[in-house]
Amino acid sequence: MTIMSRFDLKGKRAVVTGASQGIGLASARALAEAGAHVLLTSRDEQALEKAADELASEGYSVEHRFLDVTDSVAVTALAEDLGAVDILFANAGIARSGEAAEEMADDVIADVMNVNFNGVVHCCRAFGRKMLAAGGGSIVVTGSISALISNRPQKQSYYNASKAAVHQMVKSMAGEWAARGVRINAVAPGYIETPMTKYGMEEDPETAEKWLELTPMGRVGQPDEIASIIVFLASPAASYMTGSVVVADGGYTCW
Ligand code: NDP
Repeated sequence: MTIMSRFDLKGKRAVVTGASQGIGLASARALAEAGAHVLLTSRDEQALEKAADELASEGYSVEHRFLDVTDSVAVTALAEDLGAVDILFANAGIARSGEAAEEMADDVIADVMNVNFNGVVHCCRAFGRKMLAAGGGSIVVTGSISALISNRPQKQSYYNASKAAVHQMVKSMAGEWAARGVRINAVAPGYIETPMTKYGMEEDPETAEKWLELTPMGRVGQPDEIASIIVFLASPAASYMTGSVVVADGGYTCW
């Protein structure tokens, strides 16, 4: 096997959550470009259809399906309904920040944990079970550098906690599943320019400016710069990696 052929995903089937925009959409495109057939999922059917149509018009092999990752029954049903799945990118997430920890309301905290942690649990458990039964597979989860540092300018204690829980779950599942052929890794992005952060930047340019000052590369990242890591982690190129958290943050956590 040549080195470059280890990135080849021809014949593989991938599922991506939160694929209607941002990091999920860029990664769905990258996985398809590497040769995989990709199922795009999210809640906004219109945005999802537009995203899938766009990729199909570029010649990629894709389909799309509504999926709310907080609905455990629906996630399990989807996993059971599909044929073989080789790759899962559990990426769907929401940010709720800007409010002091002592002021954040119960329902906001519950939403964050429900999507960012429970949603990832539902997907990894259901697709992990399927991959274990099939004897192999690769899961990548979107964590965050917010799990590694307090990320103080953002005021997002509970978001940070939800991502830290995801990192720890990845490490623990990796240990349980390694001998049975299923790898699971996380990517921990820094500030990436997506609809999620665009809103934040427009709403709160001062915080965005502070963030850039603290980033040695002096710029925000682009979704493609995460997507290439997803392809790597999902592919046989990362065959000796499991339980890893790969940081991509322009040096933000180097300080
Ligand atoms: P976006 O807001 O651009 O995209 C988030 C995606 O998640 C959308 O497709 C959204 O679609 C989907 N989603 C949200 N809630 C649900 C749900 N309950 N069920 C299914 N899908 C859902 O964000 P990003 O692309 O920036 O973020 C992607 C991931 O990366 C998130 O987990 C985020 O926390 C993480 N991250 C982002 C960083 C950044 O700087 N952008 C930094 C570090 C981590 P829909 O609303 O249609 O369901």
